[in-house]
Amino acid sequence: AANAADPLLEGLNPSQERAVVSRGPALLIVAGAGSGKTRVLTHRIAHLIRGREAWPSQILAITFTNKAAAEMRERIGDLLGGAAEGMWVSTFHSACVRILRRESERFGYVSGFTIYDSADSRALLKRIIKDTDAASYGFTPANASSKISKLKNELLDASAFRTTMNDADPRDRLFAEIFTMYDQELRRANAFDFDDLIGQTVQLFRAHPDVAAVYQRRFRHILVDEYQDTNHAQYSLIRELTRPTDPEQTMRLTPPARAAELDDNGVIPAASLTVVGDSDQSIYAFRGADIRNIVEFERDFVGAEVVKLEQNYRSTQNILSAANAVIGNNFDRQEKNLWTASGDGEKIVGFTGYSQHDEARFVAEEIEDLHRQGLAYGDVAVFYRTNSQTRALEELLIRSAIPYRVLGGTKFYERAEVKDAMAYLTSIANPYDPITWSRLLGAPKRGIGPMAEAHLAIFQEAHDLSFHEAMARAAEVPQLGPKLRGSVLALADMLARATQMAVGGGTTDVEGDEAQPAPVGDVLKLILDETEMIEKLRAKRDPQDDARAENLEELLAVAREFDVKHPGAGLIAFLTEVSLVAAVDDLDDTSGTVSLMTMHTAKGLEFKAVFITGVEEGLLPHQMSVDETGGINEERRLMYVGITRARERLYLTLASTRATFGDISAAMPSRFLQEIPEGLVHWRQSPGEVTSRGGTQSRALNAPRGTGGGYAQRPSRDSSVAFGGPSQGSSAALQEPSNGNMQSALEKWRERKRLAKEAQASGG
Ligand code: ATP
Ligand code: MG
Repeated sequence: AANAADPLLEGLNPSQERAVVSRGPALLIVAGAGSGKTRVLTHRIAHLIRGREAWPSQILAITFTNKAAAEMRERIGDLLGGAAEGMWVSTFHSACVRILRRESERFGYVSGFTIYDSADSRALLKRIIKDTDAASYGFTPANASSKISKLKNELLDASAFRTTMNDADPRDRLFAEIFTMYDQELRRANAFDFDDLIGQTVQLFRAHPDVAAVYQRRFRHILVDEYQDTNHAQYSLIRELTRPTDPEQTMRLTPPARAAELDDNGVIPAASLTVVGDSDQSIYAFRGADIRNIVEFERDFVGAEVVKLEQNYRSTQNILSAANAVIGNNFDRQEKNLWTASGDGEKIVGFTGYSQHDEARFVAEEIEDLHRQGLAYGDVAVFYRTNSQTRALEELLIRSAIPYRVLGGTKFYERAEVKDAMAYLTSIANPYDPITWSRLLGAPKRGIGPMAEAHLAIFQEAHDLSFHEAMARAAEVPQLGPKLRGSVLALADMLARATQMAVGGGTTDVEGDEAQPAPVGDVLKLILDETEMIEKLRAKRDPQDDARAENLEELLAVAREFDVKHPGAGLIAFLTEVSLVAAVDDLDDTSGTVSLMTMHTAKGLEFKAVFITGVEEGLLPHQMSVDETGGINEERRLMYVGITRARERLYLTLASTRATFGDISAAMPSRFLQEIPEGLVHWRQSPGEVTSRGGTQSRALNAPRGTGGGYAQRPSRDSSVAFGGPSQGSSAALQEPSNGNMQSALEKWRERKRLAKEAQASGG
């Protein structure tokens, strides 16, 4: 009450207020979904800055996605009435990249280092597996990469693996070799993989106490959202950043430490740490997230204060009761007492379709209904467990001309043509990286085949050159014929000009010494013009290639936008932004569109209306989790995350038959449905009401909308189900359409999507 006049505390309940104003060395906020954890974190930061307890530059706030970081930064700006300059609000990965770029010379990298995404890592592993003949031992790029990733998340490198492995097992020995080669290759390529970003930052701090001291001094307040999903490497990073500075290093700091900064021991005391989390929402065990980080917080951070939040401000009572009931079936948890003042609200709606298309049709119709009732499309989200479920949903949304976006699907930066163009920029920043160099050689095709590439690579290695330098000396590589030599030299020349632009452009400023880098957009424009990538795609007159050309134009627009937003920041800053966005989430603006995403992506978000689709055994819980220890509990937490995203309306949908990999099989309702008290759900069509024949047949014949399009007449797998049922249909009818059919169906589908987009744009 004493703070009633403080606008930053207004409307907060007593526990929330405590979480904002409390000032100890460590604070743990544990609470269920929707209880205001993220909100409290945001207010706490604003409170620190506004009260002049900290400069914005002394704050490091960690969020789970870039999108969440952007939102938090904006919220803090709103609360303070102006952007807080110099504040780090970012993901673990972004924060680490910033640190590594600044300190790269410490470990013999150049600051233009490449960040390998998972596809790049797998490309590298593919070569290594081939060289070591590891495929015959069952290694694939995918399984090797996930094994390496798990180890790196535990901060274990190849030599650490060697000490723990079974020496008698040839597979282990081989894996150790693959791992060693992989890390060696990364280093030679001046590249980090995604897990290295965090692991290497921890190593950097441990190996260089003077560097650690700089950041320990700088960040006085460290705040971490979604702490339950941190893995060991991330936890270690927090530990390093929250140590008091080393006494020896304290004396050497520049600028020198002021007396006011030092404690009684003559060192800069540990930064204050605030973490918020909900162990019921831990859903990343498969990526090494360790729930113990939150459970053992008090032991790790002595003197930690714990604040519990129990009031949920997001959802209606019905939704909350369903969430509480489901998660109550996990026995390994601390009981929570989450309540809401917002009344029962609408019942949860259940629907069982006879197929995934029938399910999708229901979702689309219901969204239209909600929309007619005045709900904006942007307030609606559709969740699913696996990405493969999107196709049926997208088809029906397109048919109904409902605007939507898929979050975290095939991401913009993962598209082949975008990666091709990006390879040029990446290679300019890091001409030692073989993966990107190899990619650009063949994009577009210019007759430089694998043999020529190998000869150049051998020459490069023998003379200790960058790949660009090696190409410029193609005349010295006798194996290259005159024609090949010509195209290599032309490419080298183009890259040299682009590099020149990117680093200095040859222009000098008024003082005459500082070279001015050209805007990133100009560099990219040069590349696109000289390679004629866009023209070549356009010339094919294929709608899919048109879409690819558009993507390249979009990339150019992204670069230009970056130049405007960050004048003079340059190529490396651009690549950093892109690589991080690409790897974690996308920038898509979802205002005005329905959002489609996996439940993993949904974490931390909220929507007025939520559809959870495919609530079936084998999907949710996922088949893969069933045999794994703790697997079902993790799936249940995922279900809990999904349910608690909904504010007012929640739909749980499933299908009684589902096609996977071309087979149609009967689907069972998820066990999680049975865990929800019956009275909370109004079944529009319950699992018991659906058989593969009978009542649902008429539905198939009277498809309410969109029957006019050519694609609706495509022989559908589902109609065969409706008429015959999976056991009676001829097997031919049940198979996936042949590839050709599939292709043309897909094309038509894309065409419709384009038309729908146009209709939308013209307000139709
Ligand atoms: P999650 O566990 O899903 O991440 P959370 O605990 O971080 O949830 P928030 O997202 O911070 O919860 O808050 C949930 C919703 O409740 C938000 O819309 C937020 O603005 C609102 N909210 C939180 N606290 C209050 C409050 N004291 N008064 C009004 N609204 C509140
Ligand atoms: Mg949150």
